Amino acid sequence: MNAFNSHTILTNEVPSRYANIAFPTPVRQLFTYQVPDELQLKTSPGKRVWVPLRGKMAIGMVISTHDQKPDFDCKWIARVLDEEPMLDPDMLWLVRWMHHYYFCSIGEVIQAALPAGYNFVSTSYLIPNEDISGIPKHAKAQFILSEIRQKGRYPLKEAEKRWEPDKKYLKELIRQEYVQVWEEPELSKSTGSELIWNVTEEFTAERVLGLIEKYRVKKPAWIKALEHILELEFPLSQSEAALHGIGTPILRRIQKEGLIDHTTEALRFQSQLNVEPQAPKTLNEKQEKALNHIYESIKDRHHKTFLLHGVTGSGKTEVYIHAIKKILDQGRSAILLVPEISLTPQTVRRFAAVFGNTFAVLHSRLSDRERLQAWTALHNGSLRLVIGARSAVFAPVRDLGIIIIDEEHDSSYKQEDPAPRYHARDVAIMRAHRSNAAVVLGSATPSMSSYNSAIQGKFSLLDLPTRPFAHSQPSVHLIDLRHYRSAMRGPLAIPLYQAIKDRLERNEQSILLYNRRGFSNYVQCPSCGDIPQCPSCAVSLTYHRPYHQLRCHYCGYSQVAPKVCNQCEAGEELQFSGSGTQHVEEQIAELFPEARIIRMDQDTTRGKHAHERLLGSFARGEADILVGTQLVAKGLDFPNLTLAGVVNADTELAFPSYRSSERMFQLLTQFSGRPGRADKAGEVFLQTLKPEHPAFQWIVRHDYLGFARQELPQREYLNYPPYSRLITVFFRAVDPNAVRVAALHFSELARHLFPELQFLGPAPSVIPRMNGQFRWEAQIKAELGQYKETERMLETIVAHYEQHKPKEATSVRLTINLDSL
Ligand code: ADP
Ligand code: ZN
Repeated sequence: MNAFNSHTILTNEVPSRYANIAFPTPVRQLFTYQVPDELQLKTSPGKRVWVPLRGKMAIGMVISTHDQKPDFDCKWIARVLDEEPMLDPDMLWLVRWMHHYYFCSIGEVIQAALPAGYNFVSTSYLIPNEDISGIPKHAKAQFILSEIRQKGRYPLKEAEKRWEPDKKYLKELIRQEYVQVWEEPELSKSTGSELIWNVTEEFTAERVLGLIEKYRVKKPAWIKALEHILELEFPLSQSEAALHGIGTPILRRIQKEGLIDHTTEALRFQSQLNVEPQAPKTLNEKQEKALNHIYESIKDRHHKTFLLHGVTGSGKTEVYIHAIKKILDQGRSAILLVPEISLTPQTVRRFAAVFGNTFAVLHSRLSDRERLQAWTALHNGSLRLVIGARSAVFAPVRDLGIIIIDEEHDSSYKQEDPAPRYHARDVAIMRAHRSNAAVVLGSATPSMSSYNSAIQGKFSLLDLPTRPFAHSQPSVHLIDLRHYRSAMRGPLAIPLYQAIKDRLERNEQSILLYNRRGFSNYVQCPSCGDIPQCPSCAVSLTYHRPYHQLRCHYCGYSQVAPKVCNQCEAGEELQFSGSGTQHVEEQIAELFPEARIIRMDQDTTRGKHAHERLLGSFARGEADILVGTQLVAKGLDFPNLTLAGVVNADTELAFPSYRSSERMFQLLTQFSGRPGRADKAGEVFLQTLKPEHPAFQWIVRHDYLGFARQELPQREYLNYPPYSRLITVFFRAVDPNAVRVAALHFSELARHLFPELQFLGPAPSVIPRMNGQFRWEAQIKAELGQYKETERMLETIVAHYEQHKPKEATSVRLTINLDSL
């Protein structure tokens, strides 16, 4: 293959005779192609091209062009697919930086940066071979051929599906060259309108179950879809339905039964919420002061990163709003990143009140089409503000002025899988640096990494130490559960129980955090002690009561919960151990029969609008108690909420990571910031079995600085981030021996090649088997500020590893995660 090293500096003068092209594979090299004369003016960096690759046609992206004839024969570019570059020079620069910094391929970065519809997608077609005019022998083959000839171009997938029983004739036709497989680029789909499906009045569980029962034996596809539909949220767009594997023909069939119907709607990617317009609030003195620093950097068009450290409810969001307004008034663009789970209409509504519906909202639940439309509107400059989760850091806005990252400590900003395994905070800073834009990182509990950068003067620190309304922070009580063994009411120690009771009497609201979902943690046979495990992961299954199911929280496997143990002779009834949110909810309902309770966890927030509906209902005061997993800890703002209780404050500590204290501090501090945000004082109870853990003293005092001052020296002593770059190398395969051999081989090589390197492991992962694959890992603590050296080091180790790989290791998948959390 014609490989060209991506490190080579190349000029980008047009017209050029050669182009270096990236493909969506993990191969870290670019490939050089010749540019035909007639395409020389059209071929430029950032455009997609259609080129031959490994005997097929493929879509690639031009990264650079040049006139240096390589010393190997290169293939020719067949077509240039874009009129305008998809990525501008600044974005191309960012893509390259990520390629080096995260040790991934340029193609992988481009895949993350472009929406699916603009990505490297192509479709295979069958086309009749003009040179062969004869007909095949078998009648079935003749029929297939005539169908293909009649259509002129037949999508391969469709043909394979249609003639599934006659596969062999289709194969024969291809082998005998009656038809050829032809690859076509799949370009952006139309961005018009689509069908929105909704249930009719006839849609009742009884009707649906009746139909399912009626067709039970035959079970056509639409009946299977009906079973599925019971769990979906309506209204549902056509493309969302497709995501669930339900095509339009099936929906039409169900429509015939009168159960659902559709309307046609323009695509919605903007926030089309009906909100009262509102001018931005007048800032208080402290907010004003912080804002002025940001204004200065905006005015000078000077890149600067600000760390806005403000306790929860101190008015950070108001500062964001003013800063964004300034940027938009200048005619420039702004990106606001929020953690995926706080991308709720509650957040969006606040921005809609000030900015109207003039911004795009990007989140993982958009369909490809909606995403494409938002992307296009930002790319052509008709929208200049985007609010989105992690990947919105790549939004193609024009003249970027500011990137704001709310809750910057949140771990959802780090992409774990697939590559590029980037951290949106670091990517944002590099992008803004390149574009002379400002960055504002906001948090009540900044990451140790950002706080350290502020101490070192790399970021400029802005403080909002108090809430605008004179209310002090809620008082936090630590409850040592060991002293309350005989003074418990269900899962609650008496003081927390009493506090909830008081709230109910005063018509105030409470939230309870219980960081495990499901009904009980696991089921166990009292006779032989067997705990049912997931067949593909090394974890026990969790019991879910409403479906009477055992589920795996890692791979999604589920089975009906057995009544009795099937591992031993005793045949005893299984016992439920531990507890989950469902169980806590039930216990709370028993303790407070008069209370209205809402539960919020991954199981109750599955549908598209479920999250919003639950929170909306709690905000309107339709419930007294909200029970949930960490989903309830973030970003909620309810004026009537005055009590927060944590059933088990120690869960984060079980998480094996150098960041477990930081995670616990962040989770519990954020959670403690929920009650008492308006005019009523708040109170917090933390139940723990480990009150001596040092993080608690800082949580109780809302003392972020105290925590940071204790945590940072420990990190430094152990050379953990932010004092090093932590790199995790993963090995995965179905064969346990292969994984072990590969991991040991890699580690031995690394130690041999780089004796100075801080290399830890290898060892089996904490969950040693997941999705049927055995897992090992090793860690490297690399030096800071040396990313090119780190890249070369990894390149060297991987090259040696691939070259001398033991035979049994060929099935092992190696992945490298830089800046792993
Ligand atoms: P944070 O983003 O730091 O959690 P918010 O910006 O959400 O804080 O502010 C908390 C509450 O205080 C919100 O209801 C907000 O509208 C209100 N608020 C913040 N700043 C002001 C201000 N300057 N004037 C009036 N209300 C404010
Ligand atoms: Zn599993």
